[in-house]
Amino acid sequence: MRALALVADRRLELTDVPPPPAPAAGEVQIHVRAVGLNHIDLWGFRGMAFAKRNLPLVVGAEAAGEIAAVGPDVSDLKAGDHVVMYGAMTCGTCPACRQGRDNLCENVAGIMGFHVDGFARDLVNLPARLAIPVPPGVALRDAACAPIAFATVEHMLFDNARLKAGETILVHAGGSGIGTAAIQMAKSIGCTVITTVGDDEKGLKAKALGADYVVNYRNDRFEHVTRKITAKKGVDVVFEHVGADTFNGSLLCLKRGGRLVTCGATSGPITTLNLMQLFQQQYRIIGSFGASMRNIRDALAKMQAGLRPVIDTEVDLADFGRGLERLESRRVFGKIVVQF
Ligand SMILES: [Zn+2]
Repeated sequence: MRALALVADRRLELTDVPPPPAPAAGEVQIHVRAVGLNHIDLWGFRGMAFAKRNLPLVVGAEAAGEIAAVGPDVSDLKAGDHVVMYGAMTCGTCPACRQGRDNLCENVAGIMGFHVDGFARDLVNLPARLAIPVPPGVALRDAACAPIAFATVEHMLFDNARLKAGETILVHAGGSGIGTAAIQMAKSIGCTVITTVGDDEKGLKAKALGADYVVNYRNDRFEHVTRKITAKKGVDVVFEHVGADTFNGSLLCLKRGGRLVTCGATSGPITTLNLMQLFQQQYRIIGSFGASMRNIRDALAKMQAGLRPVIDTEVDLADFGRGLERLESRRVFGKIVVQF
């Protein structure tokens, strides 16, 4: 069977490997059908000094597929079922896991496709508890955007920032995979959405997706425009993932007591923080990483109800690297999905 492995920084190789053994007790074997690309793939592709991993490593962190076989003791899934995969090797038994806070597992053994072998292969064996059924009517291509992109946004907006109907939110990089999902999810509950984009064409697409205001950050300073739109009051929530380039401007966009939730630092991880501003303005800054399995189920339910991911491009497995380069170039609007 095929497996796409990272063999060195920025070098992927499509290899022919033996298929996995029949699934063991409590496991399922999944025929992978679609893999979503995310910035975590890009970090891995470029080489991350702090990530412990051994190369070659099968890439692919976000995926959907079809159950090929089930092991003994698996009764809730059967061959042919469509599922998405939870890509962090959680223990399933620690207090965090038992409380459904999967992304805070105390014994997590790595993220698939980043620390350990991932989903860019024809067949994969996985503990059945990490396979989440795809509801009827949701295509595998769309479902493949649930485990990381949609669920991360779900976790950021609703578990962490506690976004409510009627609030105003600034969504950074509205053309990115998570940016497009954040615009859709915030609009779906009746929020006012301000978003930033890097070119006017993306601005038109963001508007078509429901954004109320679009700021081209190459022409205008987003913090000035945001303050103007909100009559100097500021927004309730900022959805951050850009990092160093925008973080302080994002804080300036918040109203007193506002919440900033962040899951990324694509422009760089280091910034300074004015502590006087932090406590006087009573800001809440919330770090968010990954999602729980509940978030994935909720994201899939939203897809079933009609909230479909924006797909920028679909590529074949052999063009996974080209997909990453497109993601890196920031030319995307929405998600890149690798088809099997
Ligand atoms: Zn655990």
